[in-house]
Order: sequence, then structure tokens, then C-alpha cells
Amino acid sequence: TPAKEGKMFIKALFDYDPNEDKAIPCKEAGLSFKKGDILQIMSQDDATWWQAKHEGDANPRAGLIPSKHFQERRLALRRPEILVRPLKVSNRKSSGFRRSFRLSRKDKKTNKSMYECKKSDQYDTADVPTYEEVTPYRRQTNEKYRLVVLVGPVGVGLNELKRKLLISDTQHYGVTVPHTTRARRSQESDGVEYIFISKHLFETDVQNNKFIEYGEYKNNYYGTSIDSVRSVLAKNKVCLLDVQPHTVKHLRTLEFKPYVIFIKPPSIERLRETRKNAKIISSRDDQGAAKPFTEDDFQEMIKSAQIMESQYGHLFDKIIVNDDLTVAFNELKTTFDKLETDTHWVPVSWLH
Ligand code: 5GP
Repeated sequence: TPAKEGKMFIKALFDYDPNEDKAIPCKEAGLSFKKGDILQIMSQDDATWWQAKHEGDANPRAGLIPSKHFQERRLALRRPEILVRPLKVSNRKSSGFRRSFRLSRKDKKTNKSMYECKKSDQYDTADVPTYEEVTPYRRQTNEKYRLVVLVGPVGVGLNELKRKLLISDTQHYGVTVPHTTRARRSQESDGVEYIFISKHLFETDVQNNKFIEYGEYKNNYYGTSIDSVRSVLAKNKVCLLDVQPHTVKHLRTLEFKPYVIFIKPPSIERLRETRKNAKIISSRDDQGAAKPFTEDDFQEMIKSAQIMESQYGHLFDKIIVNDDLTVAFNELKTTFDKLETDTHWVPVSWLH
């Protein structure tokens, strides 16, 4: 739509280097970008190559970038695991594959780049990160705070950072109260350490998708409900939530407007130096069993961080390297301050 040209902004969800792209008609005309960059779309006249520039770049010259549908198509071809097998299996080996990329009749008329496969569910474009349309957003003073989601590998220091943030301003930051089916201990009160519920109710709540995550430990269930996030936000507090990265996509709604921070380990050399005397709680279910870090823990942490970044990196709004704890904490604090005052790019779908 020409009316939109120059007014449309997208967040790149992948790295792009035109010099590595065999398909681009002219490498010199290409625009290179990194995952997370904000691009301004100058023209979508061509179905395969859009013209764009980096947001805020004063230079009026635009460069070529692969269009969304072109990039989705070639990524899907490169990663067959994201193609869902068609329901009806035809005798002709490649027919399902080919059919999945043909333009549907309706879309041909409107000239929109939509594929039949989207309708027939042959592949899920949500799993093919290309671009996301974004718009500037600034929180109004009477608005609830955005949910802050912290992700990172075991042992990176995420809980320590969260704890430091909480005690720095208990009025301002809050965490969710988890649900459990285990019996309440004498020193505990309902709604403080946990919300105590029956197994039956827990199972019903799971069925009704009331939990963001849950797990089983010593024959009892434990979990974080969506309502527990709502109740922190309703108190006009910033809600700090740490979850596995795969849950993030379910939290990306207009209601929560999550800001996702990835806590990343430094190099293995720095891990050895900085975590010499520290201890690791190897998993959520190993409470209390803190042991000194081993070389394997460091390698596991780095490997796990790499997997998280490659699979979910397009969902991260901010990456903080936890090398020195004080430095990382200050960076985190600055990020939170900016979140409340500055303008940030958010998906357009959150503002309608
Ligand atoms: P406890 O019964 O001793 O309070 O906790 C037992 C275990 O349940 C701990 O390892 C704790 O980390 C885990 N746990 C507590 N809250 C949650 C939660 O919201 N989700 C999951 N998956 N585990 C939790």
C-alpha cells in the first residue's frame, strides 16, 4: 500500500548480509542488518525485494532487503522441519510442497503476499522469524507497568539479579506468588509463600490454561498462574517474572506488553574467574543443594545460552551480560528506568 510507504517500521528478526545472498540482483544495492534492528520501509512495490533504511538514518538512500514472503519461503525450504506434512498425501512426491507456496486466488486479486499454506496450515510462519511490524510506544503515567520477563541459563545469576532489584525498591518491584498443592507448613501463610490449592483444582486450572508454567516436585504440583501476574500489576508494581524462553511467545499480548531481558553469561574464561568461589543451585528442584561450580557447569551454561539465543533471540528486547554482578545490576537498573520513561518499539498488534 503506497500510502504507508515511509511510515511503516519493522523489527528484523534475523541477521542479513547482502554479500552472502546469492538471490539478490545487485549486492551493492543491498542493506545489511542485524537481528533486532528497526528498519523503515520505503517501498514494497516489488514482491521480492523491499526498499528500506535503518530507522533514524539521515541518509535518504534506501537499500534492498528480502520481502517477508520471500524470506519466509526460502527459510521454510531450508528448514523442512517447520513444514507441517499436508493432511492429504498425494502420489506426486513434491506436490504438497509446491502447493504450499502458490498464491491463493483471493490474494492474487488483492495483490497481497499471502500463501495458501497459511490457510491450510502447512507451515507455521510464526516459527519462521523474518520481520515484525512495530510502532513507537511510551507508557502513560496512568497505565499499568509492562511485564518484565527475565530469561537465562541455570547459574547465570538471574535470581541474584532479581533479588537485588526487589530489595532495591520493594514498593516498586514485585514477584508472583506461585500455586502449590502441597500442605501449608506452620510458618507459612496462604497467599504469601504460596497459594495453596487442591490437586483437583490445580488440574482443572491446568486444563483451563490458567498457568504460564507448572511442574511436579515430590508428588505435588507447583506453578505460576496468569492471574498471579495480573495481581502484581494491579498493585501498580513492576512484575518480575523468570520463565523458560519457550513460554515467552504466549505472554506476548496487548495486556502484558512484555519486555524480555536475556541474562547472558560472559566468556568461559571470565566465568572461571568470576565464579571461582560462587555456588550453583543446579535446578529449580534442587533447592538448598548449592554446590561449587564445576567446569561442566560453565560449559553447560554457555551451550544453553547459545541455544536460547539462536532459538529465541528474536524475542529478546535487551541482552545483559552478567560478567561482574555490580556492573550487570547497574545496567539492569538503567534498563528499568528507561523502560518507564523512554519510547520503545513494540508490535503494532499491541496497540489496537
Ligand atoms: P517447597 O515445597 O520446598 O517450598 O518447594 C519445592 C520446589 O518447588 C522448590 O524447588 C521450588 O523451586 C519449586 N517451585 C516453587 N515454585 C514453583 C513454581 O512456580 N513453578 C515450578 N515449576 N516450581 C516451583
